Amino acid sequence: MVTTLNIEPIPAFSDNYIWLLHNGTDAFVVDPGDASPVLQALSVRDLTLKGILITHHHFDHVGGIDALKKAAQCEIWGPENPKITPVTHRVREGDTLNVLGSPLHIIEVPGHTLDHIAYQGDGVLFCGDTLFAGGCGRVFEGTHPMMRKSLAKLRSLSPATKVYCAHEYTLANLQFALEADPNNAALVERLAYCESLRKQNIPTVPSLLADEIATNPFMRWDAPDVVKKLTAESRSVGTDDEVFAGLRLWKDTF
Ligand SMILES: [Zn+2]
Repeated sequence: MVTTLNIEPIPAFSDNYIWLLHNGTDAFVVDPGDASPVLQALSVRDLTLKGILITHHHFDHVGGIDALKKAAQCEIWGPENPKITPVTHRVREGDTLNVLGSPLHIIEVPGHTLDHIAYQGDGVLFCGDTLFAGGCGRVFEGTHPMMRKSLAKLRSLSPATKVYCAHEYTLANLQFALEADPNNAALVERLAYCESLRKQNIPTVPSLLADEIATNPFMRWDAPDVVKKLTAESRSVGTDDEVFAGLRLWKDTF
């Protein structure tokens, strides 16, 4: 079971999290954009890197692969995108891989990029730049309906799922969320809680999928209050895809 593994964030760049999964001896990392903090984290914990999981092709998620492969001779799983040349196992929706004895399933979640995949196991989700705590990734390569459909797939997972996204964007996301969903008491409470975490330099990630469904406007395209607000702002005429696109375009310039 994935939940029996230790899962720790390795901070990288200014706001990335590279996720370290380990059993005390062997390790996997998710989206190593930079090799040096990973090598340091492995060394401090005396871990052997066995595998790398990649969610999409952006440099801040793949930039460390070559150096890690050279250092550890590990295997690399990633999407079917030939641009990510070091990948040794290309995976797609429905595939399952074994991470230190625990199964992780592949969910295709295009929108932020066309190649984006997520890794989902027992109670955990590694979703890269698709779903963020309190927000979602920018739609760079796909379309808004495509991104909403991807988020709908994630919304259908168990609400008890822990969401491990790749960036600490939570406060800015929740500040926007409050604009889009101002009467949401759970959201007000979540923002205060996350502000207190950040004041202590504690990551706000992972989050709980149930909290995303309750407070993240990009998971709430069909919540009456969000629909009403988008309509009042003249940013949507009300279909799920229009509400979602209206939210994403609003956030793009927020
Ligand atoms: Zn990205």
